[in-house]
Formats: sequence, structure tokens, C-alpha cells
Amino acid sequence: MSYTLPLPCGCTAYVSCSPDTGVAHTRVIECRHAACRVRSHVRGTKVFLWELLPAPRSVVVQVAGVTRTLRLGATP
Ligand SMILES: [Zn+2]
Repeated sequence: MSYTLPLPCGCTAYVSCSPDTGVAHTRVIECRHAACRVRSHVRGTKVFLWELLPAPRSVVVQVAGVTRTLRLGATP
């Protein structure tokens, strides 16, 4: 089984899965988007698992024992 998957940058990844287990064993760039700013996104190059994830919307930080959740891209 194989399928294509849109990436957050606009590129498209080709994902190939094992027919026995269904686990993805190959993920490569199939089509580079014109607006993509990731230099490594060249057709046929490997796509790492974390590149399939959406951009984080917040981050948890801990300073001096105090834990805070900061929203990324938001103005205070
Ligand atoms: Zn890209």
C-alpha cells in the first residue's frame, strides 16, 4: 500500500507501507511546492517522521520551577 501526504510546507510526500504489517517503510518527497523554504525538500529525498507533523502552536517552558504554556505566533 502507498499513498501521498501533504506536508505543512506545501510539498507532497510519497509514503510506502509494508503489505504485511502496514508500517510505513519509505517516505520521500514526491513533489516540491514552489513556496517551500526547506532546502532539503528535493524530489526523491527522505522525509523524516517529524516533518509530517504540523507546526507547534504552543510550547511548554519551565523556569525556576514555574511551568508556563506559551502560544507561538501570538502577541501577548
Ligand atoms: Zn517542502
